[in-house]
Amino acid sequence: MPRILPVLVVLSVLIAPTATAQDIDAVLQAAAEAIGDPEALNSIEYSGTGWVSNVGQSHTPADDWPRFEITEYTRTLDYSAEASSETYTRRQGEFPARGGGTPLLGEQQRLLLTRGGHSWTMRGSQAVPQPGNASVRQVDIWMSPHGFLKAAASAEDATAVTLMLEGRQLTILSFTVMNRYRLNGTINEQHQVERVQTWVANPVFGDMIYDHRYTDYQRFGAWMFPTVLHSHQGDPRIHPGHNSMEIRVTDARPNVQTSLPSVPSNVQMATAPTVVVRSTEMAEGVWRISGGSHHSVAVEFSDFVAIIEAPQHEARSLAVIAEVRRVIPEKPIRYVVNTHHHADHAGGLRTYVAQSATVITHAANQNFYEDVFFHPGTRVMAPDILSTRMPWFASNRIPALELISDSYTLTDGDRTMDIHPVLRSGHAGSMLIVHLPEERILINADLYSPPAPDADTPVANAHMRSLAQNIEQLDLDVARHVGVHGLVGSHLEFLRIVGGE
Ligand SMILES: [Zn+2]
Ligand SMILES: [Zn+2]
Repeated sequence: MPRILPVLVVLSVLIAPTATAQDIDAVLQAAAEAIGDPEALNSIEYSGTGWVSNVGQSHTPADDWPRFEITEYTRTLDYSAEASSETYTRRQGEFPARGGGTPLLGEQQRLLLTRGGHSWTMRGSQAVPQPGNASVRQVDIWMSPHGFLKAAASAEDATAVTLMLEGRQLTILSFTVMNRYRLNGTINEQHQVERVQTWVANPVFGDMIYDHRYTDYQRFGAWMFPTVLHSHQGDPRIHPGHNSMEIRVTDARPNVQTSLPSVPSNVQMATAPTVVVRSTEMAEGVWRISGGSHHSVAVEFSDFVAIIEAPQHEARSLAVIAEVRRVIPEKPIRYVVNTHHHADHAGGLRTYVAQSATVITHAANQNFYEDVFFHPGTRVMAPDILSTRMPWFASNRIPALELISDSYTLTDGDRTMDIHPVLRSGHAGSMLIVHLPEERILINADLYSPPAPDADTPVANAHMRSLAQNIEQLDLDVARHVGVHGLVGSHLEFLRIVGGE
């Protein structure tokens, strides 16, 4: 078949920039000469200051992640033990208090640890397992400059390609680590590791870009180490900024004697938390479907069900949907109200879209959710139903989004559910609250979480005050508050807390 030949010739020209295995050795050799032998570096500890952001918690989808100042930062990487510790003190500082987690009052100490596939944080002297983050914390070790070169040397699927990018000749070294993460490392003309990028699973964003930029290399002993570390999490096509951390390194100590802790027994035994659902009928046809940290409410109409909030992830949505089927059989879930776009409150929405429910959300979230629901970006790390099954929205009989910029009423002529945009919230600029006027129930997320009866009375804050103002301005008749976090509480108690009496 001689006619195939010309095609092969063209192909070989196209793939010419791909380096051979020998070239990879040469790339690694040059990098080792430039930034110091990675094989002789067993550990590194570095310190500095900078900022860290609250990923997934932007004020509106058009904003970057909210930032906190880091006053003290120390990271220790022990390559042979596959262990790392990251400790820092964060405070609100000069950064605007807009978005989830703000304002951060006072100073907060964070200590994040990982070793051999286990990750945990410390709360005082208590180790808190982080099974969900374990592999991301682990891959982070291999995303450090020297860690990347070590991992590249032992990778079996490494490829290298040299590109001209904005007039610079850069080599992208690519391989898989931990049988899961594809790492792309950018080696610059000085043979320094300038950037390491991968993807991590995220229920809202799918395969989410995670990358570290390494610049301003300086000498520390026999090794060169970057003194500006800048990280991104998120897709620049969906998030304008997606800046997640920046550290200005003031000191780096290669081959320091590390004393990273061994894995605590409770961390060793920890498994991913099971999804729990409990339902309580708060009024006729109004069910609180509670979980561990995030809850939903199901409201029964004459021929459909509306759910308020689809938090966390698909497993939670599937459990909530199953529970709703049990307590309200034979009625389709036609609507799901999304209080706001924060990742922990939106992580379960795609499951409802896959079951042809309409998402009621603030109009300012339109582009964001069109991307989240219909973006053709990959979801290889953790595929969900919407990405792997023939989705029902394709029938286009049912719109996936109902956009609200003013007060909106969902009714079947009998029951009424009012949905109101929240004005002047520092937590999220495109937020909704849900009011059941007949039942005098108000459902909110992140503004006020009714406390347990035996808990300390919470101190009034700006979010509670903004909720109180919105209730007053909208003239809502409220007897009970239901938090997407927290419990159910009386309006009298809320007024007492906000009044500060
Ligand atoms: Zn939030
Ligand atoms: Zn929340």
